[in-house]
Amino acid sequence: MTTLKVVRGTRDLLPPETALWNRIEATARRVFARYNFGEIRTPIFEDTSLFARSVGEETDIVSKEMYTWEDRARAQSEKSQSLTLRPENTAGVVRAYIEHKLGESGQLQKLYYIGPQFRRERPQKGRYRQFWQIGAEVIGPPSAGSESPVRDTEILEMLATLLDELGVSGWTLELNSVGSSADRERYNQALREALVPVAPRMCADCQRRAATNPLRVLDCKVPEDQPIIATLPRIADFLGEDSKLHFAAVIAALDAAGVPYHLNPRLVRGLDYYTRTTFEFTHGGLGAQNALLGGGRYDGLSEAIGGPKAPGIGFAMGLDRLVLTLQAQEAERKTTPRADAYIAPLGENLNAAALALARELRRAGLTIELGDGSFRLKKSFEAAGKIARRIVILGEDELQSGILTVKDFASGVQLKVPRGELFAILAK
Ligand code: ATP
Ligand code: MG
Repeated sequence: MTTLKVVRGTRDLLPPETALWNRIEATARRVFARYNFGEIRTPIFEDTSLFARSVGEETDIVSKEMYTWEDRARAQSEKSQSLTLRPENTAGVVRAYIEHKLGESGQLQKLYYIGPQFRRERPQKGRYRQFWQIGAEVIGPPSAGSESPVRDTEILEMLATLLDELGVSGWTLELNSVGSSADRERYNQALREALVPVAPRMCADCQRRAATNPLRVLDCKVPEDQPIIATLPRIADFLGEDSKLHFAAVIAALDAAGVPYHLNPRLVRGLDYYTRTTFEFTHGGLGAQNALLGGGRYDGLSEAIGGPKAPGIGFAMGLDRLVLTLQAQEAERKTTPRADAYIAPLGENLNAAALALARELRRAGLTIELGDGSFRLKKSFEAAGKIARRIVILGEDELQSGILTVKDFASGVQLKVPRGELFAILAK
């Protein structure tokens, strides 16, 4: 008998890795609670038309990546129905918001979810057919302030805090505004015209998108198309006065809160429902799949699926990619030297002076490795290089003059440092 294997693009998650997944989820729940979000759990499958009407017929997700099937009627009274494994969770949350009339409370709804999503993509590192997202949405009637730029910056600031608390270092916030649906309509028209002469030189997908959904051309990842894309009109030049003011307010509040960002005029995101603020948090360590999370505002989504006016903003974070990032960071931490310095006494008669120096620096808060005066200098250098970022040489001369020799391994720079300045140099 052939052995059965896990389906392509899906994975088993086993201990000890699952401990990291649990830690990330627990941190997210804790941070969301501080911002007063509550958890929502929607079904894993929904009516297919929910995604067609929200994510958009012309997006890659709906046009080629969904797991859709015709669910047979089990009784005369039932109809067969087209169902789809959810490819994302915002549509389900907004459907639930409408179905449970959550808007009637007059309050903003602040909801988060954690769960698997399904897309038939080409599996590769950081890209799977079943993957996990942690996401949150702020949605409500305009009278509750759901359109306010305050909501945008609060979400972005929360994400910066969450990534910091998770210990993700080196993230970048990419930020753009895609305007109101009217702004986008005018931009789409301009794009469509600009694409007529150049589209024939672009990839097959872009040729199709140029006619059906020109905005999607900006998502293209084909390298040869990038120089052409760089010449296309920019959305920033098509924003109406309201959208401009809204975006300016978001940026000003981020500056005031000290959240760093990078303006990226080409960031349009792969789902049709976004309006105004759109963003991604990226990480260099992920290679081609560099987006840790994506999100934005969706002021018209509720109405597009038959609900009341309910502007909102949200994001979805890829848990699989977060795990990869934290694992890579941990591996790097293990292989890079961690002590601030290694003190190498030159001769056994200097062991006591080396201990005194180590004691002083450790008490000041540094991590110090203490060498051994019986080691030859070469052996001290080898030992130091494996466990510390620098070596401090303490010989008879150094003891007399009070000037120590410090070598930094990463830069290769060797310095003479007066003992009084040693702490400041090593603490850098
Ligand atoms: P990408 O450009 O990487 O395909 P996307 O724009 O399709 O991302 P969204 O639909 O906004 O992504 O989903 C939000 C996040 O979910 C992404 O930033 C990513 O971290 C994660 N994600 C999306 N698709 C996958 C997948 N197939 N496998 C793993 N994670 C994914
Ligand atoms: Mg995608």
